[in-house]
Amino acid sequence: MVETSYDIAVIGSGPGGYVAAIRAAQLGFKTVCIEKEPTLGGTCLNVGCIPSKALLYSSESYQFMEKYAPLHGIQASGLKLDFPQMMKRKTEVVSTLVQGVAGLFKKNHVTRIFGTAKLIGAHEIEVTAEKGAERIQAKNIILATGSESIELPFLPFDEKVVLSSTGALSLPKIPKKMIVIGAGVIGVELASVYSRLGTEVIMVEMLDHICPAMDATISKALLQILKKQGLQFYLGAKVIGADFNQQNPSVQIIFEGREMSIEAERVLVAVGRRPYHKGLELAKVGIKVSAKGFVEVNLNFQTTVPSIFAIGDLIEGVMLAHRASEEGIAVVEHLAGLPGHINYLAIPNVIYTHPEVAAVGLTEQEAKDAQLNVFTGSCLFKANSRARCIADTEGLVKIIGDKDSGRLIGMHIVGPQASEMIGEGVVALDKKATVSEIAYASHAHPTLSEAIKEAALNALGHAIHF
Ligand SMILES: Cc1cc2nc3c(=O)[nH]c(=O)nc-3n(C[C@H](O)[C@H](O)[C@H](O)COP(=O)(O)OP(=O)(O)OC[C@H]3O[C@@H](n4cnc5c(N)ncnc54)[C@H](O)[C@@H]3O)c2cc1C
Repeated sequence: MVETSYDIAVIGSGPGGYVAAIRAAQLGFKTVCIEKEPTLGGTCLNVGCIPSKALLYSSESYQFMEKYAPLHGIQASGLKLDFPQMMKRKTEVVSTLVQGVAGLFKKNHVTRIFGTAKLIGAHEIEVTAEKGAERIQAKNIILATGSESIELPFLPFDEKVVLSSTGALSLPKIPKKMIVIGAGVIGVELASVYSRLGTEVIMVEMLDHICPAMDATISKALLQILKKQGLQFYLGAKVIGADFNQQNPSVQIIFEGREMSIEAERVLVAVGRRPYHKGLELAKVGIKVSAKGFVEVNLNFQTTVPSIFAIGDLIEGVMLAHRASEEGIAVVEHLAGLPGHINYLAIPNVIYTHPEVAAVGLTEQEAKDAQLNVFTGSCLFKANSRARCIADTEGLVKIIGDKDSGRLIGMHIVGPQASEMIGEGVVALDKKATVSEIAYASHAHPTLSEAIKEAALNALGHAIHF
């Protein structure tokens, strides 16, 4: 028999919801997690972080064999791209991980209900599934229903020709030519995947720069690198329409004051994501939503209904899986009377292009806007011996410090394995380390992370290796 009364009911099983549910159960709360999709894990595991990173790795490996292996003296004949196998492996990775979440629910005694949730009251939820509807009571409810891709009015997603990221992660064959609208994180990552596999990729971006959340130095460096890799960019370009009357669709843009039309086999629209709360009926129970559609919460993630909380992509902030998870832990720890603290300044942000981009803390512009007295230092990977050993020398580390306290306030990397290196910046920032402490901490030789030490030394005015 399905139990109907819980301490905590979590709606949504993405990295916010499933982590909240597991932590809640660990803390002794009787917990249920309601998910409308047949698999757990939300956007991140099913159609986001995981499948995109699986394809990024596979396509990068192919490109390595095709373009860079000969430089290392590796000659492979008969290199062949098996795209269906690449997609199959991606699906297997997803399936292993989503089953893993189901296993964790079992282990931690989290009840899982398959169905679409609707709020009935401050403590009541109705869940509708094929077999009918059921009501659930909970002392506290956590909303973790995530986000969805934003559509352009004249380019509605059909996931065949006009793709959201979800469609682009499951194409049956490699397109010859693809337009990617939006050069943010998702746009540049998926553009990289297909470009490496041979697709001619044209990126159209409204701003005059790519990946706007990144420090300007890093964004410029990444643009140059991606251009060298063959991606074509129309920056400062506005998409004004689309035409589906020919064999291939075309997109009309205004670029440098001229109207022009670009034809391609597929169009990926990656212009951002918006919070998703369709069908929850938030207004009926008195939950306030901002003009941009984010659920409004206080510092403890409490909505305008005291027993209902919201976390992850559904609330204002950078849409990242690890941020959602931190909030999932914080919200239930707070309910258990623990501090439930998050240091938002120390949440890293990564773009998994090659080379990767990783950042934590403030950009130089943000620091200046905050009237901070900044000092900066950088180190090119060209000056790093490990980068030379692995023949991967593009990019740099940039460090930003606060002159008054000497503390690190931002670390920005474009370079090989930046996603792994940024951990040092996260810990340093979280523990309020100074730039000098980073500079004088020993870094193993030869490692890419020596570029962090060297950038810190450069910020202090005495770099050794350049
Ligand atoms: C292509 C792509 C790549 C990405 N790559 C990264 C990355 O590399 N790193 C990173 O940090 N972030 C990445 N993200 C962002 C990341 O996926 C999200 O920030 C994260 O998934 C948000 O977690 P969440 O728990 O808030 O919501 P979600 O993961 O969106 O989960 C919400 C869940 O709620 C369910 N739900 C919604 N409404 C209801 C309802 N009424 N009843 C029951 N269930 C419901 C949904 O089905 C879904 O499973 C990527 C996103 C995309 C699209």
